[in-house]
Amino acid sequence: MLRRFDKLLKCNLCYISGIHSRSKACKPVLKNCKKMFKSAVFNLQEATPDQVKEFLNSFDTVLSDCDGVLWINNNAIPGSPEAMNYFRKLGKRIFYVTNNSTKIRSDFAVKAQELGFIAEPEEILSTAYLVAHYLKGIGFTKKVYLVGSNGIGDELKAVGIRHFGVGPDQVKPDFKSMSPSDMDPEVGAVVVGFDEHISYPKFMKAASYLANEDCLFVATNTDERFPKSSSIIIPGTGTLVRAVETCSERKALVLGKPNDYVRKFLESFGLDPARTLMIGDRCNTDIEFGVRCGFQTLLVMTGVTSAKDLEKIRNDKTPPLPDVVLPKLGDILNLTSS
Ligand SMILES: [Mg+2]
Repeated sequence: MLRRFDKLLKCNLCYISGIHSRSKACKPVLKNCKKMFKSAVFNLQEATPDQVKEFLNSFDTVLSDCDGVLWINNNAIPGSPEAMNYFRKLGKRIFYVTNNSTKIRSDFAVKAQELGFIAEPEEILSTAYLVAHYLKGIGFTKKVYLVGSNGIGDELKAVGIRHFGVGPDQVKPDFKSMSPSDMDPEVGAVVVGFDEHISYPKFMKAASYLANEDCLFVATNTDERFPKSSSIIIPGTGTLVRAVETCSERKALVLGKPNDYVRKFLESFGLDPARTLMIGDRCNTDIEFGVRCGFQTLLVMTGVTSAKDLEKIRNDKTPPLPDVVLPKLGDILNLTSS
């Protein structure tokens, strides 16, 4: 796949002008861009050593998606730990930004460390944490009906927000037998994240709570599916969010990528969007998020967006287009050592 990918990728600007070369012909054009490689879908492997150096000097903060960029399931993607640790060695601030809501920050940090990444819990921005941070920030004091997992539940608990709903719900033989007495009047928000125990009673409860227009509707993310490690498709949280949106006839406030809530959150850390790089494996979340926030963007091909997808994106010139691309994150190390 990677060999085919290499053939597909050429600097978009050169592609348009018809003067592609490894080098100098590209450079004056690229220099005119405000961002170094703005939406150019530029294969960094085609860059000159000077361009690579200039690129590495063009950002101070690195935000990286996790699944599909750093690891798949419980396996690090070869070269990713070394690349992230190299950014840190260069003095870049690192944040791991994941739409995955199944773990608390400290568990993500432990996983990252076990896979070879230098990582601290405060560098993890997971959607479970963002949901808790958001509700705490608006002074939410009621209960949450949670269609999700313990990752969100534990983050809510950590900020003192009561919740229930995690785990299997009983599917009764007569599925219409639910009554108003089954509903908790203290619920003031429905939160939807990844829930492997999703069921019809959960949809009924979520929609019934949301029939009250004062009840908040918050979702972690809308990813369609998990990055593939085999031929089995694992539906993502977006599947659940869309279902609850449909039966409640409401739209969720989505806090994960591509929503720019993370940027607002990071502004308290003095984040400079123009000097921030977002690394991701999917265009419609990671790259869209980076573009919306004014970050530079790097797409890697180890996750959801395939070489075929990228070819279509390049040909159609349909946004969001990444600034630069690499077959895998670890390839950046080969460029810096040459
Ligand atoms: Mg991903």
